[in-house]
Amino acid sequence: MSDRWIEVADRVWVRRLEELDQSLGLVVGDDCCLVVDTGISADAGFAFATAIRELTDLPWQVAYTHDHFDHWFGTSAFGESAIWAVADGAHYISFGDEQRQRRVAQYRRENREDEARSIARSRLIPPNCRVSGAVGLNLGGRTVVLRQVGLAHSDNDMVIEVPDAGVLFAGDLLENGAPPSYSAAFPLEWPQAVEYLLGWKPKVVVPGHGEPADYWWARGQARDLAEVARLCGEVAQGFLTEEEAAAHNPFGPETMREALGRWRELAPPPPEPAPEASGEPAVQGPPPPVIIYDIIDYNIDMTQN
Ligand SMILES: [Zn+2]
Repeated sequence: MSDRWIEVADRVWVRRLEELDQSLGLVVGDDCCLVVDTGISADAGFAFATAIRELTDLPWQVAYTHDHFDHWFGTSAFGESAIWAVADGAHYISFGDEQRQRRVAQYRRENREDEARSIARSRLIPPNCRVSGAVGLNLGGRTVVLRQVGLAHSDNDMVIEVPDAGVLFAGDLLENGAPPSYSAAFPLEWPQAVEYLLGWKPKVVVPGHGEPADYWWARGQARDLAEVARLCGEVAQGFLTEEEAAAHNPFGPETMREALGRWRELAPPPPEPAPEASGEPAVQGPPPPVIIYDIIDYNIDMTQN
């Protein structure tokens, strides 16, 4: 398969890439167009910008669905433009640089020198327009909504809604054909975020990776995300073992373990152990409260006083 366009609705395009099975977006208005994510490297971004110029010569603005490198390392090809995102530019640069170094090292370990070089020479372009809550962006004759999601696949997810066409660009909140990635996720909050975003019942839902699909597919994945959250909670409370959760979940053992790892990372640290006896008696706090669930029949004789 080579890279290709799919027109999912009137002047709403999805660019399907072979690399990472990514889905980038393009929404064209009468006056300008909105580019949704820019790909994994400067080279990928350049190829994407060239493909866009075959469809439209209108000026562009860019939206980042979140800060993971594969969604924004291609932006240098887009020159000076408004770039919308939830997290601020300074965060993008420092986190981006960290990811760039990590990716380059990984590709070198895998003897993929061309990819390593392509990432290493990708100049990072931070966002310059911040989205907090929701922003309606008028592209001329059509308004798209850039919506901050809250905690889900990352702590800075943003989706793009095209209400007149019934299209939702969901970023990595949804993945088609591969399990969702929990490496920086919030397993408990994620499913509710998707439920909320599906509230207006979009006709077409574009995942960050994999083929565009419909509302019912997205709803199914929201249900699976909720099951993972439930399993995490049950493992945390000792109702299930990690092995049971790994064996019985919608996305497979690896994804379940990643979700559980993330859950543990987010859990508050256990209380400090009591200090060793050192001659001084250890300072003891008040005893824990005793909770009694039985109904007690108090029989107080007031006449005694
Ligand atoms: Zn991601």
